[in-house]
Formats: sequence, structure tokens, C-alpha cells
Amino acid sequence: MNERERVILLWIKPWGIQQLTFGVHMSLFKLKAISDHQFDVRSAERRRTLFLGHDVAARFGFLLAHLKMCCHIRYSASWREDMLTTHRQTSAEEFLPTRRSLKSLREAARSCEGCDLYRNATQTVFGDGPKEARVALVGEQPGDMEDRQGRPFVGPAGRILDKALAEADIRREDVYVTNAVKHFRWIQRGKRRMHQRPVLRQVIACKPWLRAELAVVQPRLVVCLGVTAAQAMLGKMIGIAKERGKFLDDEKDGIVLVTIHPSAILRQRDKSEQEKEYRHFLADMKLVANYLLDSGR
Ligand code: SF4
Repeated sequence: MNERERVILLWIKPWGIQQLTFGVHMSLFKLKAISDHQFDVRSAERRRTLFLGHDVAARFGFLLAHLKMCCHIRYSASWREDMLTTHRQTSAEEFLPTRRSLKSLREAARSCEGCDLYRNATQTVFGDGPKEARVALVGEQPGDMEDRQGRPFVGPAGRILDKALAEADIRREDVYVTNAVKHFRWIQRGKRRMHQRPVLRQVIACKPWLRAELAVVQPRLVVCLGVTAAQAMLGKMIGIAKERGKFLDDEKDGIVLVTIHPSAILRQRDKSEQEKEYRHFLADMKLVANYLLDSGR
């Protein structure tokens, strides 16, 4: 059963429960009305009015309850997420190989079932780049094209990243690119598979892969592209606007720099906004280049 079918089921379920409860409720009420009527014919008219009033109130109450339930399903992502999956926190930890190299990690990640995301994705999209990379770029999750091709940052956002790296004089072959979450999370809208941000439970579940690959590569600098990557690396929510462009000294992972995800540039309303956002992103990439120069490339 895919996520869409589960959501449909969740829409039907409360409706079914409502109908059932309503049916039972009305049957009991009717039974009571009939038995009362047999003993007290004089107040039959009064009982009929009461019955109708109760009927309307019950229908209205159940309708409100149903609407409330539907709004929860439609608008509360975390609630829906909890309903769709079990509450048990799962992890990729048990899928990690004992001997760890980029090759063995990549191989093992192919069969990871550390969270529910593997079910709807085409394949695991593991990190890509040399073991000697001095900088690691961490994105959020693979997109539609990455999911099909099995490589990170090969879609429209990847092209912006490539352009900014080239302009900042950083060779893509010299950096390790990966994502906080290795499977594509999406929802069907018409013919398109629309990206959905992974929830915290999935980011936590996938973290062992990120930790393991960074432990092998040991980059001097980890660049978090967007809030999900920053959350995965730093273990807490941070405001991108506040922390952007700062070199943060993380106890576990060394120096971390936070910036936006290149897809945020594509989401800008018009060309001038996109250009402005791109310039800012490029400035962040130049900070990375300068850091590498200063620390001896
Ligand atoms: S998203 Fe990560 S933890 Fe979840 S199944 Fe994929 S590789 Fe495993």
C-alpha cells in the first residue's frame, strides 16, 4: 500500500466510524422512543419533535467531528505522519556494515530499511565524491531526478550548485556531496511526484549513514545546505537567516557552515529575486573556497 492509498484510507476510516456510531446512536434512540410511545401515547407529538431535534443535533455534531478529523489529516503533517506509520523510532544503525569504507557503506545502504522511506523510493541515493575531499556538502534528501539516477545533486538544484561551485573556484570533483536522508520522500500530485520534506523521525533514522560517511571522508568543513541538513548535523533546529555564513565549531563534526539549499533559489518568485538569492549563495560558496585556501587546500 503506498502513501496515497493510506491517506485515502484515513479519509474513509473516520467517515465509516462516524456512520457506525451514528447508526448505533439513532437505533437506540428510536427504540427508546418507540417503547416510551407505547406507554405514553399522549405525549407522542412532543416526542416526535424531540426526536427530530435530537436527530438534527446528532447529525450536525458528527459532521463537525468529521470535518475536524479531515482538517487534521489534511493540514497537520506530523499528525498524519504519526498515523501513517508506527510510533516506534527506527534507525539505519543495524544496516551499517562492520568494515566501513565509502564502497561498503554505499553497498549496504542499498538495502536499508531503517525508516519507511525506502518503500516508495526507486533506490537509495548515497553520497558521491572522493574519500580525500576536504569539504562535504550536505543537502536535505534526493529529488525526483536523483531518485531516478541514483546520484545526489543531479537535478535542477544540483545544476545551481555546480554553477556556484565553479564560480567560487571549487571543483565538484574535490567535494563530497551527500544528503541528510538517502531516500526520496514524495507525494503524487497529478502526474508529478512532489517533494516532501522528511520529518524529524526520518532524519534521525538516517543519521547513522551521514555520520558513517563523514567519519570515512573526514572533511575539514561540512557545509549544511538548508535547515534539514543543519538539523541533522547539529542535532537541533537553527534559524538559517541567523546562522548563515558563520563557521560553527561543532564538537563532533568539526567546522560547520550553514547556508540555504540551492532549491530555495528556484522557489523565488521572479528572476530578480532568484538572482539576488543566487548571489548570496555564491558569496557563501566563496567563503568555503577561502576557508580551504586558508587551511591549505
Ligand atoms: S531514508 Fe535513510 S534510514 Fe530511511 S530507509 Fe532510506 S537510507 Fe534507510
